[in-house]
Amino acid sequence: MERRKVGILGATGMVGQRFIQLLEKHPWFEVSWLAASDRSAGKTYGEACRWKLDTPLPARIAAMTVMGNTPEQTAVSELPKIIFAALDSDIARELEPKFAAAGCAVVSNSSAFRMTADVPLVVPEVNADHLELLERQSWRKDSGGYIVTNPNCCAIGLVLALKPLEARFGIESLFVSTMQAVSGAGYPGVASLDILGNVVPFVKNEEEKLQEEVGKLLGRYSSNGIEMLDAKVSAHCNRVAVEDGHTECVSIKLRTKASREDVLAAWNEFAPLCGHGLPTAPDQPVEFEPSVDRPQPRLDRMRGKGMTTTVGRLRECSLLDWKFVLLSHNTIRGAAGAAVLNAEVLARLGKLAGSKNIAQRAAQQPAAVLA
Ligand code: NAP
Repeated sequence: MERRKVGILGATGMVGQRFIQLLEKHPWFEVSWLAASDRSAGKTYGEACRWKLDTPLPARIAAMTVMGNTPEQTAVSELPKIIFAALDSDIARELEPKFAAAGCAVVSNSSAFRMTADVPLVVPEVNADHLELLERQSWRKDSGGYIVTNPNCCAIGLVLALKPLEARFGIESLFVSTMQAVSGAGYPGVASLDILGNVVPFVKNEEEKLQEEVGKLLGRYSSNGIEMLDAKVSAHCNRVAVEDGHTECVSIKLRTKASREDVLAAWNEFAPLCGHGLPTAPDQPVEFEPSVDRPQPRLDRMRGKGMTTTVGRLRECSLLDWKFVLLSHNTIRGAAGAAVLNAEVLARLGKLAGSKNIAQRAAQQPAAVLA
């Protein structure tokens, strides 16, 4: 089957590198275009990038030339119609609309447009039906292009653990305290002198993002847009000396009573993408680990090839109803892997321009079925 050409905007950064790693052997997508800042444009990728991953930089990618950061700097015939974007939010706010206006499907990691009313903020297992929002974007009508976003790296693991509980019991309030890995700050990120042997109890804008994104992700799609989840959410965000993998301690109050067995069954039976044949979707999006001292970043972050959220330490909470710990890989499920999975769902739904030769038409499903 012919692989569809895709581009990576912000290809040299931490998330950009994960895209290259995850897409190298992807059955549907092939990286044909890379772009980054003016510092990198014109160099080969091998010269421009400080490769930080534990698999070798593919030789084909290392030899590719890094392009300039606007669509006009690439010949129309060479510009892929699918752009994975891994830019800081200020830059994304300026550049992503240019690619959408040029007819590209922009699958973004940045926070710039996550809370914009007509931009879907999507985790496919949680709210694939929100993808309908992109049909309201003016770019979609004018050029066929659009912007779809995935959430903040802490919000993704959290909503995966919450969605099965919200669906069965309803959520009234939620308290979450994070322990976030240094790779979440990009490269070079947090100075070693600030983080080694230390905890930094502040991650800029993170608590606000986590609180509001949970409301949109677990909100309901209607003809008026997204109705936010009616629940109180309070977040504490901390940076810790861990390389990869965000850990979160969660306490939750449910709207109807649930026993321990009920909560475990909700997680175990949660498999909304099962049977859709999406290459990046894990068999088990939320996995319960019964050991008393798990999940731990080093031991559990690569479950489901980095796409599974591990939950553990489920116990009664004396303030709310239940408390537990979750762990999610921040640059795979929390960033590049999330965007690749979003693109796979868009392909299945026939919403990637010309995607019909990738995902067999017969297998296309309405978004609501995937949610
Ligand atoms: P990063 O390591 O700092 O990489 C930033 C990338 O943006 C680099 O490729 C850089 O290229 C490029 N860039 C900078 N200025 C540019 C410009 N004017 N035009 C085009 N490209 C430009 O950051 P990151 O950690 O990969 O994060 C990227 C985005 O993903 C951010 O919005 C972040 O919040 C989000 N995110 C990150 C994580 C995570 O765990 N790291 C998780 C979820 C979401 P040069 O090398 O040329 O400077």
